[in-house]
Amino acid sequence: MLRDQYHREVSYLRVSVTERCNFRCRYCMSEKPFSWVPKENLLSYEELFAFIKISIDNGIRKIRITGGEPTTRENLDDLIRMIHTYDPEVDIGLTTNGFLLPAMAEKLKYAGLKRVNISLDSLEKETLHYIAQKDVLEHVLKGIESAIKAGLSVKINSVILRGINDHEIRTLFDYAKNIGAQIRYIEYMENTHASDGIKGLSSYEILSELSKTHSFFPIVNEKSGPANLYETSHGYRFGTIEPHRHDFCATCDRLRLSAEGDLIGCLYFVGAKNIKEAIRKGNEREATKILVDVVNNKPEKNLWGIENSEVSLRAFYQTGG
Ligand code: SAM
Ligand code: SF4
Repeated sequence: MLRDQYHREVSYLRVSVTERCNFRCRYCMSEKPFSWVPKENLLSYEELFAFIKISIDNGIRKIRITGGEPTTRENLDDLIRMIHTYDPEVDIGLTTNGFLLPAMAEKLKYAGLKRVNISLDSLEKETLHYIAQKDVLEHVLKGIESAIKAGLSVKINSVILRGINDHEIRTLFDYAKNIGAQIRYIEYMENTHASDGIKGLSSYEILSELSKTHSFFPIVNEKSGPANLYETSHGYRFGTIEPHRHDFCATCDRLRLSAEGDLIGCLYFVGAKNIKEAIRKGNEREATKILVDVVNNKPEKNLWGIENSEVSLRAFYQTGG
C-alpha cells in the first residue's frame, strides 16, 4: 500500500497517453502548442504498462486513461487489455471528449474498460463550437450514446464558464439525468494555457442556479473521487469538483503520469520525477523508488486555494486533468 506523509492512501493513477488533442477548448488548449512532444519521447504502451504493473503491485487499484485526447492515440484498446489481463480487479476508466467514441466504445469495453467520463460543456451547437473551437456537438452526443450502448458506466463532466455556458447549468443537468449519467460540474482551474479572460463559476453559484428548479441535499461522508456528491429528492445523484475549496486535497488519493513519463504528485504543483530512463533500462527497483518518492513528496495542498498563486503554469492537456 502507498501512503503519503499526510496519511493519505494513494491508490489511483491517472495515465496520460498523449498531450495531443482534436479539440482546442478555450479553458485547456486554447491554441495549438508551439511544438508537440516528439513521438520518440513518448512512452510506448509496453513502457506505460511496465510502470502501471509496478504501480499495481504497490497498491494502485484504480487507473484512468486520459490526455490530451486519449482516443487519438492508435490502438488504445491494447493498453487497456494489457492492464485488464494483468489484474482484472483493477478499475479502469477513461476520460475523453467523446468525439471518436462511436467507432471505439465497444472495442474499449471488450478490452476491459469499465467507465468513461465524457466532457460535455454545452448542448448548443454554436456554444460548444465556440468552446472547443470546432463543430463537435453531434459527434460528442453520438459518442455518449455509443458508450451507453456498449454498457460502459458513463459520467458527464462540465466546466461552467461565465458568460459562455452558464445559462446551461440546468439543461446539462436534465440531459445527464435523462440518459442516466451522473453529471459533475468542474470548477474552472486557472492556467496559463487558457484563453485570456476565461472565468469560471464557483460551485456555490452553480448549486444556487440548480436550486431554483431542483431540490437536493449534500451526501455527507461519501465522495466519488474528488467530487462532492448531492442527491435530488427523486434520487438522482450529481457532483461538483471544487479544487479551490480549502479541504479539496484532504482526501486526494491520486498520482498522474504524463505521456513522457513525468510522475506528478499534484495537479497544481511543479514537482515531478521522470520514470522513462528507469523503465527503458528495465530497472524496476529504480522505478519503484521513484513511485515511492513521489508519493512521499505529495504536497499537502494544491496552490489554487493559496493567495497570489492562483494560475497554474502546467497545461491540463499534459497532465490529463
Ligand atoms: N480530452 C479529454 C477530455 O476533455 O475529457 C481528457 C483530457 S482533459 C484535460 C480532462 C478533463 O479536464 C476534462 O473533463 C476537462 O474538461 C478538464 N479540464 C481541462 N482544463 C480544465 C480547466 N482549466 N479547469 C477545469 N477543468 C479542466
Ligand atoms: Fe482537448 Fe480535453 Fe483539453 Fe478539451 S479539455 S482541449 S478535449 S484535452
